[in-house]
Amino acid sequence: MQKIGILGGGQLGRMLLQAAANYPVETFVMENDPGCPAAHLCHHFTSGDIKNFDDVYNFGKGLHALTIEIENINVEALEKLESEGVKIYPRPSVLKTIRNKILQKEYYKSHDMPSAGFIITNNLNELKEQEDFLPAVHKLAEGGYDGKGVQIIKTKQDMDKGFDMPAVLEKLVPIYKEIAQMVAINEKGDTVLYPPVEMVFDPHLNLLDFQICPAEIETRVLWKVEAIALSVVRNFKSPGLFAVEMFINRDGDVFVNETAPRVHNSGHHTIEAHYSSQFDMLWRVMLGYPLGNTEHILPSIMVNIVGENGYSGDVKYEGLDEVLKIDNAFVHLYGKKQTKPGRKMGHVTIMSREKQELLHQSNKVKRTLLAKA
Ligand code: ADP
Repeated sequence: MQKIGILGGGQLGRMLLQAAANYPVETFVMENDPGCPAAHLCHHFTSGDIKNFDDVYNFGKGLHALTIEIENINVEALEKLESEGVKIYPRPSVLKTIRNKILQKEYYKSHDMPSAGFIITNNLNELKEQEDFLPAVHKLAEGGYDGKGVQIIKTKQDMDKGFDMPAVLEKLVPIYKEIAQMVAINEKGDTVLYPPVEMVFDPHLNLLDFQICPAEIETRVLWKVEAIALSVVRNFKSPGLFAVEMFINRDGDVFVNETAPRVHNSGHHTIEAHYSSQFDMLWRVMLGYPLGNTEHILPSIMVNIVGENGYSGDVKYEGLDEVLKIDNAFVHLYGKKQTKPGRKMGHVTIMSREKQELLHQSNKVKRTLLAKA
């Protein structure tokens, strides 16, 4: 039986393990918190630091393959493991490009993929020389996530909000729609695409709020989205599962924002709403099975359940019984013991042929199911 490890033990690891239970595979997880969401669902749990060379190397060396649920991994250890024959999904070379926004933007540019124009700034002084480039978005090269490390800079006065560290200054795109396209690619280079999802954000938390699948976009735009996403993924020359986030403007122009080289928040609805979920698909890739069917069974909306503002501590869910009574809602709570404002605690997927029904039930879920302390 194949031995496959997951670096990081959050909700993505947890849902990967739920899908792994269907296959002949022995699962391993490494993460520093033994109480993390994935810890009790794997066959073998190791406490360790995913940023530490020795911890990652020692964890990976007896395994057939490794995957990640977060980009911030010790890449040198992954490279050594790869050179010794351990398969890594995605390849360490991809992680190196993606986890640094400067390198990621240069990758899109050098492969002629449409992405907002940018310049590199190394400190605040360099930023302040770029008044002519505004309006723009300043993005920390390394270490940002979930909107932290991103500042919109429209005017000279906003420049003080910028980063005094290496960063990308990117042209502000007038966003009409924000979408994500998931692509799976196997060892042979065969690819499958999921229908793109459309994301709606909470302007206060800057965190994914709910998402509709399939995205409502014109066919001519869909073709561009699919072609661009395929090109982004193929040029990485790595098997795995990828979520390519893109912006669409009112003219139907498509811009790549960023790529996640792993299972992703934008694919959670695929657990119930699609024949093969993103988690099922990644196991198919890693275990060498045929790629799955990405078609949707029904349209869906996915709502993130995040920690309520003003509450920190041991989580208590309000409204759970009421949401469990909704007969087209699928509830996922991630088993995190502590809540804090904005923390991803779970998600709910609603499925229906009717868009009005999707919107109605998702609003109900958002109002009803609350993570408090
Ligand atoms: P993170 O990696 O932290 O999720 P993103 O690069 O996805 O950061 O940016 C967070 C959000 O900021 C995006 O979802 C989008 O709404 C907005 N944003 C990012 N880049 C641009 C841009 N060039 N123009 C307009 N809005 C942008």
